Amino acid sequence: MKCQPGRSAVVNENDKLGRTRKMKNTWGRVKQGLLDDIGQNNYSNWIEPLDLTKIENGVAVFSVPTSFMANWVSRNFADKILAHLKAANAPTSRVEFQVVATQAQAVATQAAIQEPSYTAPVSQSAPAQSDLPGAPLDARFTFENFVVGKPNELAHAAARRVAEGGPVTFNPLFLYGGVGLGKTHLMHAIAHEIQIRNPELRVLYLSAEQFMYRFVQALRDKQMIDFKQLFRSVDVLMVDDVQFIAGKESTQEEFFHTFNALVDQNKQIIISADRAPGEIKDLEDRIKSRLQCGLVVDLHPTDYELRLGVLQTKAENYRQQYPDLVFNNGVLEFLAHRITTNVRVLEGALMRLFAFASLVGREITLEMTQECLADILKASERKVTVEEIQRRVSEHYSIRLSDMIGPKRVRAIARPRQVAMYLSKQMTSRSLPEIGRRFGGRDHTTVMHGVRRIEELKASDSQIADDLELLGRLLEA
Ligand code: ADP
Ligand code: MG
Repeated sequence: MKCQPGRSAVVNENDKLGRTRKMKNTWGRVKQGLLDDIGQNNYSNWIEPLDLTKIENGVAVFSVPTSFMANWVSRNFADKILAHLKAANAPTSRVEFQVVATQAQAVATQAAIQEPSYTAPVSQSAPAQSDLPGAPLDARFTFENFVVGKPNELAHAAARRVAEGGPVTFNPLFLYGGVGLGKTHLMHAIAHEIQIRNPELRVLYLSAEQFMYRFVQALRDKQMIDFKQLFRSVDVLMVDDVQFIAGKESTQEEFFHTFNALVDQNKQIIISADRAPGEIKDLEDRIKSRLQCGLVVDLHPTDYELRLGVLQTKAENYRQQYPDLVFNNGVLEFLAHRITTNVRVLEGALMRLFAFASLVGREITLEMTQECLADILKASERKVTVEEIQRRVSEHYSIRLSDMIGPKRVRAIARPRQVAMYLSKQMTSRSLPEIGRRFGGRDHTTVMHGVRRIEELKASDSQIADDLELLGRLLEA
């Protein structure tokens, strides 16, 4: 329908307002879809700050606060944004990102605490890999932001070496370790570094789960040739959490062939898992041995110094963004001492502390820390096992461990046994029957009797009370 000549400007204005409103609504729905698709973290980092300014001639134009962000979003999320726009019936064939300075200020003044901003290197080069179906990289996971300590120095050195490029010396690089110790961080760091040094290299990072998903999709769509070609055309392949494909036979088969094809071409492969290759159950032997061919390095559980280092670095990053917030002496040391699980939990704790402090506008004291993080602190209390208790108690009373669980009933053995039962009840979550079983298959009533007896003695016999106090402390340390 054509506009009638002489139609008033007001009507035109209203038209425009209506269109804008409609567009904003569409964008609202698209954002929800993207959130479900890419997860909260990616969404808050990359989608939320976008502002859809117009859709014109099939081009959706977004304003973004920085050029780095424009690059990043365009490289990693443009396809997804486009797909979701199309799904929402918005007539778009292309997306564009314009850097708008004023918005940067608006974003900066948002009150909510965010994780410290990324210090990722900006690579302006043409994205050589826009056709690669990899997972987006987290801009914060760089070598610069990785704190090195004894437990991870080997893994870090190996990752650095691989990232430097040059002749492929170990293939694959296999990184393994418990959850939250930095495997994914190191892999992303390698990818960033390779991209900076060699923008023309095709680096593909994805999780084993995504590998499987792609594979199944290719099978379903009868696109196996494309799939094979694609995976064999990369220069660097990174597969995260490879333990995921254990027990999935055809995925393993395909992975094995991809792996071999790339190794034959002397292309670098980097793999991570939560355990050593030989320990992944339901993984074919030929794959296990292939994975062991290169360099296998593990990330050890964190130690105190590493935890403190991580906390100091992250706290410093926060302070740069929120200079008013100060940590009192001893707070970081306290956290490093008490939260021993993994770095992810440490980060979560620090973030909560900061959010809380910024809300109440106070400096961060030890008391506030304890109060604000009570649940995290409780959850990371060291878990003591019945076996450890038995060992400690036998040592303390100089009796044999075998007597602890054996049948002897003389006082010199029975009393320490009761002490161990008492401590097991106090310090573990084991039930009485479970404890009984661990004491040579004794009945739960025997355990109950032992526990009661020690409770009585604790009140009347100062020697026993001292013993309990000392043993408790040793076991908690
Ligand atoms: P994984 O993949 O081993 O489960 P991640 O790499 O996802 O662990 O790490 C969990 C979180 O801890 C990430 O936010 C990561 O940046 C952080 N992290 C882990 N190790 C370190 C480290 N050495 N220095 C800085 N941050 C770290
Ligand atoms: Mg990971």
